[in-house]
Amino acid sequence: MTAPSEVDGTTADLGDFVDRARTWLEANAPAKGAPGDFTTGRDAAFVEGCRRWQRRLFEAGWAGIGWPTEFGGRGESALFDLAFKRLQGRFGVSSAAFDVGIGMVGPTIMVHGTPEQKQRHLPRILNCEEVWCQGFSEPGAGSDLASLRTRAEAVGDHFVVNGQKVWTSFAHYADWCMLLVRTDPHAPKHRGVSFLLVDMKSPGVTVKPLRQMTGEADFNEMFFDNVQVPRANLLGGVNEGWRVAMTTLTNERGAGGTAAGARFFAAFLAIVELCRRTGRRGQPVLQDPLVRQQLGNFYVDLRELRCTGYRVAAMLRDGTAAGPVSSIVKLTWSELNQRMQNFVMELQGPGSQLMADSRYAVDNGRWQFDFLRSRANTIEAGTSEVQRGIIAERLLGLPRAR
Ligand SMILES: Cc1cc2nc3c(=O)[nH]c(=O)nc-3n(C[C@H](O)[C@H](O)[C@H](O)COP(=O)(O)OP(=O)(O)OC[C@H]3O[C@@H](n4cnc5c(N)ncnc54)[C@H](O)[C@@H]3O)c2cc1C
Repeated sequence: MTAPSEVDGTTADLGDFVDRARTWLEANAPAKGAPGDFTTGRDAAFVEGCRRWQRRLFEAGWAGIGWPTEFGGRGESALFDLAFKRLQGRFGVSSAAFDVGIGMVGPTIMVHGTPEQKQRHLPRILNCEEVWCQGFSEPGAGSDLASLRTRAEAVGDHFVVNGQKVWTSFAHYADWCMLLVRTDPHAPKHRGVSFLLVDMKSPGVTVKPLRQMTGEADFNEMFFDNVQVPRANLLGGVNEGWRVAMTTLTNERGAGGTAAGARFFAAFLAIVELCRRTGRRGQPVLQDPLVRQQLGNFYVDLRELRCTGYRVAAMLRDGTAAGPVSSIVKLTWSELNQRMQNFVMELQGPGSQLMADSRYAVDNGRWQFDFLRSRANTIEAGTSEVQRGIIAERLLGLPRAR
């Protein structure tokens, strides 16, 4: 089996862009296994690796490909952005610690921010001076986000925030948080919500990392105890936060979700390589017809994911709301990655139980980490059940579930 090509240009311009990007990445991407590689976990070294990589992209003009030039980006369409991310995925590098800032906060501030907010935040997001986190979910508000209870009361020229958030990725490294708060407890639940930009160094903010079954802690609980947030940090109007949050979530499930497919194509290639190296009865398991069939199925699913990803990117380019189509992308990448990681565990047989602390673990336990981490894929950024509900109602026109 030869390694298939991941990005083919579909137009002359895109093809030329991809050629230039590939040449640059070949010359500049750090070696696999260096900090910033997805396989090295999500600790402080990972964040610094992401920062180094993102800064290199920024300095060479490859950061913010889809951002307008007035905000320091390349001003290209979502198709180019996706093509670059897919290609980058092949090089094993990552800017994941900056995905929330560049992929979600930046585009939200561009649409809803005041000139002062744009000037203050956008340059520092793009040059990766500041890490952002997303303070949306709460213990009683995940899929039903509008049930959130963290309160903000207007007092003079500040809001005073009290409450708790949970599952906040990278909060322990973040400089800023986009925070959804309830400003009118009497209004219908979608209407009484506001969107604040919160400095994580504000007195009263406490971040407690949550350890996951991978052994790492890359998300957190966040507690707000009489935290003062200047009114100037309100994004959109008071009680207009739901509309603002929809811009953020559209970007998370749209552009962000399509890029996720690129990572899993890289994972697939690594699995093919593993099958080449793994022997059974004197020959590589890659020769086994059942293994080849399984790999073929993954490849077909990945190509479908790629096509749907480009469909979403084309919709974004044309200014069409990709909403329910991006649910297909989310559902597909998350379930496909779980299937691929299950397959790798089966491939390793009893050896699949050896974690990184065993010197006999294959590839230093990288696959065990990926397998355990993949369990979260069908929860983060909206669960599979919720995505199926959206597809059923909004694409298939089925009646609303009760
Ligand atoms: C790795 C990871 C990182 C995360 N990072 C962040 C972050 O940075 N910021 C942030 O704000 N949040 C983050 N989250 C939280 C994530 O958005 C929520 O976990 C997710 O939205 C689900 O909410 P919940 O956990 O409260 O589950 P619940 O909403 O309580 O759901 C429980 C179960 O009920 C099902 N269910 C709920 N509603 C429906 C429905 N209408 N129809 C059918 N089934 C339903 C769900 O599918 C699920 O199986 C992260 C989560 C994970 C796993």
